[in-house]
Amino acid sequence: MENFTYYNPVKLIFGRGQLDKLPEEVSQYGKKVLLVYGGGSIKRNGIYDHVMEKLHEINAEVHELPGVEPNPRVSTVRKGIDICKREGVECLLAVGGGSTIDATKAIAAGATTETDIWDIVTKKEQATDVLPFGTVLTISATGSEMNSGSVITNWETHEKHGWGSPYTYPKFSILDPAHTFSLPREQTVYGMVDMMSHVLEHYFHQTKNTPVQDRFCESILRTVIETAPKLLDDPENYEYRETIMLSGTLALNDMLNMGYRGDWATHNLEHAVSAVHDIPHGGGLAIIFPNWMKHVLDENNADRFKQLAERVFDIDTAGKSDYDAALEGIEKLRDFWTSIGAPATLGDYHIDGGTIEEMADKTVIARPEYGNFKKLSRQDSVDILKASL
Ligand code: NAP
Ligand code: FE
Repeated sequence: MENFTYYNPVKLIFGRGQLDKLPEEVSQYGKKVLLVYGGGSIKRNGIYDHVMEKLHEINAEVHELPGVEPNPRVSTVRKGIDICKREGVECLLAVGGGSTIDATKAIAAGATTETDIWDIVTKKEQATDVLPFGTVLTISATGSEMNSGSVITNWETHEKHGWGSPYTYPKFSILDPAHTFSLPREQTVYGMVDMMSHVLEHYFHQTKNTPVQDRFCESILRTVIETAPKLLDDPENYEYRETIMLSGTLALNDMLNMGYRGDWATHNLEHAVSAVHDIPHGGGLAIIFPNWMKHVLDENNADRFKQLAERVFDIDTAGKSDYDAALEGIEKLRDFWTSIGAPATLGDYHIDGGTIEEMADKTVIARPEYGNFKKLSRQDSVDILKASL
C-alpha cells in the first residue's frame, strides 16, 4: 500500500432514539440554526416535528431552508447562503439524505466567504472555513454523513461536480435506522446500489498488497447482497435497516481506502448522465457500473475481477480463465441489481442515443482523462454510454 494519514473527525451517533442527543450536540455550536431539508418527506414521517421539539428544548432560533432537490442545485445552495448571512446563522442542521447534506456542506462553506460557491464547487477557489453543521440522516446511501464530499448541480449549465475540503466534515451525524422505515422501495434500492458502488469504486485500484482493505470491501458487499432482499420484503425490520445504514456509512468514510486510491470513473460518468437528465444517482450507477467493468476488463487486470467473482459472488473459477471468471462475476452483479429492481439500461429512464455526445463532453469538463484503475478518455465515455443504452 501507499503511505497515508487517516483523519475523520465526524462524531457518529448511531441507533434507536439517538435523536435525543440532538440538543446537547447543537447547543455546542450556537442557538441560531439553519434547518436544511428536502421536498417534504420529513414532514410526512414525523421526523421534522421531532427535530423541532428537540431544537425548542434549547430555545434555538430556527431558520429553515426547505426544498433541497435530489441532485441539489447551486441555486438552492445560494438561497441558504443568503439566509445564513442575513440572519447571522451560527450553525446548520441537515435533516435528510445525501442531497440535503451535500447542499448543507456547500451552504456552510459559502456562508463564510464572499467567493461564489460555484467557484468553490468547480475548484477555481478553495473553501477556507465553514459554519459548523450536523446531520440527521434519513436514507442510507451516500456516506455523506461521515465524509467531507459534496456533489452539487448547476442546472443552468447542466454540470454536476463533486468537491470537498478538510472543513466540510459534519461535526456530528445522528443515524437512527428507524428514520429510514418510510423510504419508498425504489429509494431503498438506489441507496443500496450507491453504497455498493462506493465499495466497488474503492475495490478497483492498482496498488499492491491491500489484503485487509480488500476483505473489508468484500464483507460490505456480501453483507448488502445478503440483506437487501430480506429488507425489501420487510422494510420496517430494524435489524435489516441498521445493517444497511452502517454499510452505507462505512462504504464511504475513507476507512476502506486507506493506503490507496480507488477508481471513480463510474461516478464521473453518472454525474454526467444526471447533469443532463436529472435521474437518481443510484439508478444511473446500476446502469453504468457493469458496463464500465466490461469496458475496462482486459487480460492484464482480470485477476482483480476474478477475485471479486470468487469472494463476493461465490463463482467457482476452477478451470476457467481469469477473463471468463471476471465476466461471470460482472453478470452476477448485473443480475443481483436487476433482482432487487434497479434499472439496467438508460432506456429504462427513456434516455436514447441523442444526448451521448453531450454527456460525454461533461465527463471531461474538469480534466481530459479520468479514472484511476484505468485512464479513460472522452471516446471511452461515448463507448460506455452507448453500451448502456
Ligand atoms: P436524496 O437525493 O437525498 O433523497 C432521495 C429521495 O429520498 C428524496 O426524494 C427524499 O425525499 C427521499 N427520502 C429521503 N429520506 C426519506 C425517508 N426517510 N422517507 C421517505 N423519503 C425519503 O438521496 P441520496 O441518495 O442520499 O443522495 C443523492 C445525492 O447524493 C446525489 O446528488 C448524489 O450525486 C450525491 N452523492 C453524494 C456523495 C457524497 O459522498 N457526498 C456520494 C454519492 C452520491 P425528500 O426530498 O422529500 O426528503
Ligand atoms: Fe455515490
